Amino acid sequence: MARPLVASIDLDAILYNYQFAKKLQPSCKAFAVVKSNAYGHGAVPVAQHLDKEVDAFAVAAIEEAIELREAGIESPIMLLEGVFEPSEWQLCEQHGFWSALENDQQLAGLLESQSKIGKVFVKLDSGMHRLGVDKAEANDLVVQLRQSSLVEEVLLMTHFSCADDLSDLTTMEQLAYFESARRDIGDIEASVANSAAIMKWSVPDGGWIRPGIMLYGISPFAGVAGVQLGLKPAMTLTSKIISVRHLQKGDQVGYGRTYQAQQAHQLATVAVGYGDGYPRVTENGAPVRIAGEAGYLAGRVSMDMITIRLPDDSDMVMALGQEVVLWGGEVPVEEVADYAGTIGYEVVTRMTSRPHYRYF
Ligand code: PLP
Repeated sequence: MARPLVASIDLDAILYNYQFAKKLQPSCKAFAVVKSNAYGHGAVPVAQHLDKEVDAFAVAAIEEAIELREAGIESPIMLLEGVFEPSEWQLCEQHGFWSALENDQQLAGLLESQSKIGKVFVKLDSGMHRLGVDKAEANDLVVQLRQSSLVEEVLLMTHFSCADDLSDLTTMEQLAYFESARRDIGDIEASVANSAAIMKWSVPDGGWIRPGIMLYGISPFAGVAGVQLGLKPAMTLTSKIISVRHLQKGDQVGYGRTYQAQQAHQLATVAVGYGDGYPRVTENGAPVRIAGEAGYLAGRVSMDMITIRLPDDSDMVMALGQEVVLWGGEVPVEEVADYAGTIGYEVVTRMTSRPHYRYF
């Protein structure tokens, strides 16, 4: 019998969320950001489902892009981190990859390889100070790329540091800096918006948006779930009860005995743990759904198992084989992330290959 832990991925939900992003910014083309194994959802099956529907995909690294091409993906693929070596630029030409570019070494690699590239996105550092160059350097890179005649279209991109915080006006400052760089350069298409910006900020007309987390139905905003934003969560993680016992008042549970029963009650053990990607730091009280009823974690997360209980006022009896929803449906992954002191992005991206993945 197979281990009962299943990550069910609703591919049409991802397509719906992509189209939702495009409706919010109707003048823009949109990348579907499928880096990091499509945020843990499975890059190949996700990209195969979206291939005919998207304007292009975006990944972080060239290995991720090659994996998609080898799986038969035909849409353009953009490399958000860019490449350096002439041989990597040759692979970009061979596979039709587009790339971000932000420094002279990357430019030198391209010039040395003489590769023909469809689109290069010059990355402007508008305040995040992680990647990118200032206005003058960006202008210079654009001029050199255009003069090289190797690139069909040169675009200007930037990335926001605080778009998920609507009270933080950094995004407005970054946008203003970006627009002034665009004015200096002249006629150039823009790419600025991640999910938070697509949903809540006003971004330049035209150009390319880059939705990532929202494609998976997960909110980029603290305290708000994807469904509340009109998104369809794509992943449901379910498992089953593999053991049930009765605790007496005072019994302690699991590694470190971090949970203590305040009165006698049932406790169930479920086949999922941090070895599957369920966050170990998730505290007592994190929500689950047991055969449709609300329950919660009692005790520390182990590598392969968690222990759960029902609220005191529940009269349900837990039994072997009952289904437990770990997230998805009435258990928003954002809420589990809150209990783990992290964000929905990290919870899904840390999924391992051990659960069974079912696509529908
Ligand atoms: N654009 C860039 C450059 C990114 O690094 C990312 C993700 O980190 C995205 C877009 C997608 O962001 P989000 O998942 O917040 O939509």
